[in-house]
Amino acid sequence: IKNLVQHTAKPVNKMAQKEKDHPPPPPAEVIEPPSSDRIKGATYKTGKCLGKGGFAICYEGQLAGTRHKFALKIVKSHMPQKKMEQKFQTELQIHSKMHHANIVKFHRAFSYENCTYIVLELCLNGSLMDMVKKRKYITEPEVRFWTVQMAGAIKYMHSKGIIHRDLKMGNIFLDKDMNVKVGDFGLAALLMSGKDMNACRRTTLCGTPNYIAPEILEKGKGGHDHMVDIWSLGIIIFAMLTGKPPFQSTTADEIYRRAREREYNWPKLETSENSISEETKDLVSTLLQDPEKRPDPDAIVQHPFFTCGWMPQLEEMTSALREHHPT
Ligand code: ADP
Repeated sequence: IKNLVQHTAKPVNKMAQKEKDHPPPPPAEVIEPPSSDRIKGATYKTGKCLGKGGFAICYEGQLAGTRHKFALKIVKSHMPQKKMEQKFQTELQIHSKMHHANIVKFHRAFSYENCTYIVLELCLNGSLMDMVKKRKYITEPEVRFWTVQMAGAIKYMHSKGIIHRDLKMGNIFLDKDMNVKVGDFGLAALLMSGKDMNACRRTTLCGTPNYIAPEILEKGKGGHDHMVDIWSLGIIIFAMLTGKPPFQSTTADEIYRRAREREYNWPKLETSENSISEETKDLVSTLLQDPEKRPDPDAIVQHPFFTCGWMPQLEEMTSALREHHPT
């Protein structure tokens, strides 16, 4: 009985802890206090819950007196753990400086009733993760379309000296027109050199095992830090096409071992028209090379994968996805 109690008590406590970390649902109206660029302040009418993250909760918010809708990302002003506080500060600082069509737009941030609100561009179609869960896998033409957009976002971030470091399907959102938007800059970092970089390497491991490039785990391979995002892109492409990441295993250590040894297999998909092309396989293996050999975003979009088959127009993306998911 003692064992049983212990076994059942643990997860319950963990859940309770998680609930404690999350902020409570917001009031029906959230007040943004006056600031220098909005002297009268503003009011947001809160709508449906969009999702819960590690410590944030997202609600739809409509700016009162307008038809503009946003995603309100809410976190407690005083976070229980220092690490979370840091993640959040990084997110605010880096995300607010990003301006690109394929990066979730950061509008503003303010405090109200013990919570911090980040006003973000609303991505009505969820994340790539949600899309893959619903559809099982994404077709090559759709992957072509989204990969070009993701490469554009990565090129922009790297040109600004930012490494995202946590690119994964759950952090890539889809707007109402099915454009991808990179979000969640909580683990992003400014590219550093020399001394700073060594200090940075000493920091604890970050990211999600399935998407982590092997060199993050090996110290002393300098100069190609930004290439971790290109590795993650390779994992995302594989995962979109097959429904799961290539090195998926039951333990993180096993994922890392398989990643180091590039041990992955392309599964046979149900229908032959959905089978994976040689160009796709080549693109993924190119992205999963050692960091110094990985192509940069400009070279990526020159790969034959982008010209060997149909590249949809934006209108076609929207209608194709509607066919799969009538709303
Ligand atoms: P955390 O930083 O705590 O991981 P997230 O940024 O992942 O939080 O946000 C939590 C959830 O809120 C996401 O999984 C997603 O469902 C939803 N979400 C986040 N940003 C947006 C957005 N811009 N538009 C729509 N939904 C969003």
